[in-house]
Amino acid sequence: MSRNSLSVYRQKISHQLTQLYSNMMPTPCLLCGASNAQSCLCHDCIKNLPRLGPSCPRCATPLTFSTICGQCLRNPPEQDATFSIFRYQSPIDRLITDLKYRDKLFLSRFFAQQMAEQANNRPLPQLLIPIPLHTKRLRHRGYNQAMELARYLSKQLPTPVRNDILIRTQDTLPQASLPFSERKKNIKRAFGVNNFNLPKHIALIDDVLTTGHTADVAAKALRQANVNTIELWTIARTIRHY
Ligand SMILES: [Zn+2]
Ligand SMILES: [Zn+2]
Repeated sequence: MSRNSLSVYRQKISHQLTQLYSNMMPTPCLLCGASNAQSCLCHDCIKNLPRLGPSCPRCATPLTFSTICGQCLRNPPEQDATFSIFRYQSPIDRLITDLKYRDKLFLSRFFAQQMAEQANNRPLPQLLIPIPLHTKRLRHRGYNQAMELARYLSKQLPTPVRNDILIRTQDTLPQASLPFSERKKNIKRAFGVNNFNLPKHIALIDDVLTTGHTADVAAKALRQANVNTIELWTIARTIRHY
């Protein structure tokens, strides 16, 4: 079996396991072990997750009131808006690591549900585009967590998803492996856009917003393809730099 078909096979098995997992009731809560979990977490643990709260609509920096922050007034990011629902802190960091590196793909459905509930309060984009992984890394990991998230979001919202528009043109080093000072250089020119007939309003989907360099470069590529309104949707936003 070639590496490519092995990767597709692995993805299919993961999806079937996700389905199987969700059909088994009741499932213990991933965080406290309570047996009354409706999805992968129990009601109390979901209630206690660190929600982002009021934040800058442009970059999702937490604020006392939802208003454009000073940083965005001085030097706005490429995206027009950022929609993020959790603070990247315990236990969200652990859950996202489980989703990303430990094959717990069922978490993408949980996070998509959480995001879709809040997304319904805002004007919806016409298309969802996951931030792509480079082919080599996709083969190694077997799935792209941003694609899994986007796929479940598109099942909950009347918005389609496409993963063949934004492509990685360079196999950059994983951003998380680099100091913040080197991340901007690493990601520069990492994306290309395949289709120049795109809708006017698009949301980029990713798991975490950290320095924003990756989203910035991806959004620039879409902007060059004449997309008017570019949003960035992530499960969580890191807080410590602000
Ligand atoms: Zn619980
Ligand atoms: Zn801001």
